[in-house]
Amino acid sequence: MKIIVAPSAGFCFGVKRAVNMALDAAEQCRPLEKLNTLGPIIHNPQVVKSLEEKGVFSIDDIDCGCFDTLLIRSHGVKAEVMETLKSKGVKIIDATCPFVKKAQNYINEAALKGYFIIMVGDKNHPEVQSVISFADKDRFLVINNLADMEKVPVSEKLAVISQTTQDVNFYKRVIDEINKIAKGEAVVFDTICDATAIKQEESKIIASNVDVMIVVGGYNSANTNKLQNICKEIQPNTYHIETENEVNPEWFANAKSVGITAGASTPDWIIERVLKKVHDIDEAGLKRFA
Ligand code: SF4
Repeated sequence: MKIIVAPSAGFCFGVKRAVNMALDAAEQCRPLEKLNTLGPIIHNPQVVKSLEEKGVFSIDDIDCGCFDTLLIRSHGVKAEVMETLKSKGVKIIDATCPFVKKAQNYINEAALKGYFIIMVGDKNHPEVQSVISFADKDRFLVINNLADMEKVPVSEKLAVISQTTQDVNFYKRVIDEINKIAKGEAVVFDTICDATAIKQEESKIIASNVDVMIVVGGYNSANTNKLQNICKEIQPNTYHIETENEVNPEWFANAKSVGITAGASTPDWIIERVLKKVHDIDEAGLKRFA
């Protein structure tokens, strides 16, 4: 079987930076200081577990008083949470991805200039919550499907921004719609991260050229779920897994080629294990027919 691994599979720049900052901090702080992350460092249970083994746990309650140092993950936090932490004098390690920071700054500026903010993304995702918190209260709308377009206040001057992991084509469709319905000015910020766009493009190309596509990453990872949707549209034999233990030999019964891609929060060691498992299954199959 031909096995193609997407060159961009796995950690993006922002996630790698945040995980490295957490690992460095764990070395420096532990065991004298209590280090925690505000929410899981990334949407990957295996990485979260490996940090827990180093004594770095995720907390949700900033009032628990149970930490000395708090690490802010790559998604960032709401503006008001950052303010509260600063006012409490908490030692902060800010691992917010610089691209997410850029989106926060865009919204801050646009809000100051009186724009109504339209953010394209998942309103429950921590990155969206952190970025949109820089808009004025009641002066924003988060949309995730075209049906939501009817809620756009078309008479306002609009600033449109996207979650960094948004599907490029969907964002283009939303912008086209907004340009059609907006009665005034509509400025658009291109905040889709290159890492996401490159990963999505590579995955599309690979999914178009293989018999089976495997997408590796946390079930709670938005960008991994998006990758799996994109691949599944092209190749129905697409499977989303978290670890090599879920690889099922039956998927490859009639396959001559397999593609592997992985979300931005999937570490290399998990991708390597999946690759090895697929190799092993392939070799076992070849031996059976030898
Ligand atoms: S996907 Fe892009 S914006 Fe998001 S953390 Fe990674 S590098 Fe940063």
